[in-house]
Amino acid sequence: MPSGRTHLRIEIVLLGLWIGVGVLCAWQGWVGTDGIAAFVAAYAFSMLLLSPDLDLAMSDSYRRWGPLRWLWVPYAAAFRHRRVSHHPLFGPITRIAYVGLLALVGLLVYLGVSRRAAPELSLRPDLVITTLIGLYLPNLLHIAVDGLQSIWVRFRSRL
Ligand SMILES: [Zn+2]
Repeated sequence: MPSGRTHLRIEIVLLGLWIGVGVLCAWQGWVGTDGIAAFVAAYAFSMLLLSPDLDLAMSDSYRRWGPLRWLWVPYAAAFRHRRVSHHPLFGPITRIAYVGLLALVGLLVYLGVSRRAAPELSLRPDLVITTLIGLYLPNLLHIAVDGLQSIWVRFRSRL
């Protein structure tokens, strides 16, 4: 299994490529600078904090959550390593849904304690899409690198 540091290096190098693609898309008028900013923020968040290896009791992503890392203990207990959490479609969905659930609980607790009214949300579809792409891409890269590494290990063992 590639180390968390290897995954991070690959994802950082490719972020440069994605930003270049984003600039080209902005130049063509397909996306605004706010869309690129949403993508980069979501990509960095996902790369650092939503790794598929959160299915391990101890991973770099798990440690980066700092004092909140205990929030991922139930996730690691529920998902076996390199199973559903490493599925290209369902893996990221489980983590995005889990973070969304945590954020919702946090918001409800905050609203209950502060006795404030719930804020009105108005989501722009283009920003939602670029954010989702930013959340998904590092996960897909991680899963692809894990898969390529497994293929390489099998290939080498046959030599
Ligand atoms: Zn992995």
